[in-house]
Amino acid sequence: MKAIQWFPGHMAKAKREAIEKLKLVDIVIECVDARVPESSRNPMVEEIKGNKKHMIILNKADLANPEEIKKWISYYESQGIIVHAMQAKDGKGLNQVKASMKKMMQPEFEKWAKKGIRPRPIRLMILGIPNVGKSTFINRMIKKNQAITANKPGVTKGQRWLKVGNEFELLDTPGILWPKFEDREIGYKLAITGAIKDSLLHMDDLALYAIEKFQLVAPERLCKAYHLTEDDFEEMSTADILLKMTKNLGFKDDFDRASERFIFDIRGGKLGRYTLDMAPIPASKTVED
Ligand code: GDP
Repeated sequence: MKAIQWFPGHMAKAKREAIEKLKLVDIVIECVDARVPESSRNPMVEEIKGNKKHMIILNKADLANPEEIKKWISYYESQGIIVHAMQAKDGKGLNQVKASMKKMMQPEFEKWAKKGIRPRPIRLMILGIPNVGKSTFINRMIKKNQAITANKPGVTKGQRWLKVGNEFELLDTPGILWPKFEDREIGYKLAITGAIKDSLLHMDDLALYAIEKFQLVAPERLCKAYHLTEDDFEEMSTADILLKMTKNLGFKDDFDRASERFIFDIRGGKLGRYTLDMAPIPASKTVED
């Protein structure tokens, strides 16, 4: 993965560019990683999108815990946000996303019909932090009937609309925004899911954090993969658990190597589907319910 270092100047430019592109579109699709729906949101999307129609896609749903995906969907819906889980990689969920976008545009379609204006394709752009699957989404959308429309006025030089059937047009470059990085925990979560570059963080710190998290979200899988017992979690410190994992992996006391293996295992799906951001309880579902 190409590392992007975000400095204030780059952030201002990315924001400006995203706002510029947004002028042309009907719906902005905010792509996040379903394993870390909040941590992988850019803090300024709300401000950047202004009053444009907006949809969140929880991408990489195949990697996230299905129960947690449901909770996140009901949470965002409780906030009045249109949200769908999908898998850009194999296209699962894309039809619902398309149907939902058509529904979002219904008021405009009706307005146009009243004025006798022929409906035009729905114009879209996708935006989000690096590595959440924006390019994969674009490729998935245009698969099969790829046709590139001519440059139109108002489109930034070098940018094109990709035609998706007769119903949609999608800007060919995504809006790339910076990840949240003020918070150490968010940084760890993004690094575990592979959204930010490894070398920005120490692997052993990352592994210690991941042990703590997996003790909560999937203790049995952690035990199985590294021959631990649930008693270990009660009795040992996280650092001692890492040392035990190191020994069990046959790496003697090379816990750097074990840390790296552990993180790669998580990213490679060896510990199964997981979600690291827990959905807040929707306002409509209070504790008394
Ligand atoms: P971008 O930086 O946001 O444009 O992200 P990419 O489209 O380059 O995707 C980053 C990585 O995530 C690639 O390795 C993709 O194959 C992978 N990816 C994208 N969508 C999915 C998905 O739905 N499931 C899984 N498992 N991986 C995905």
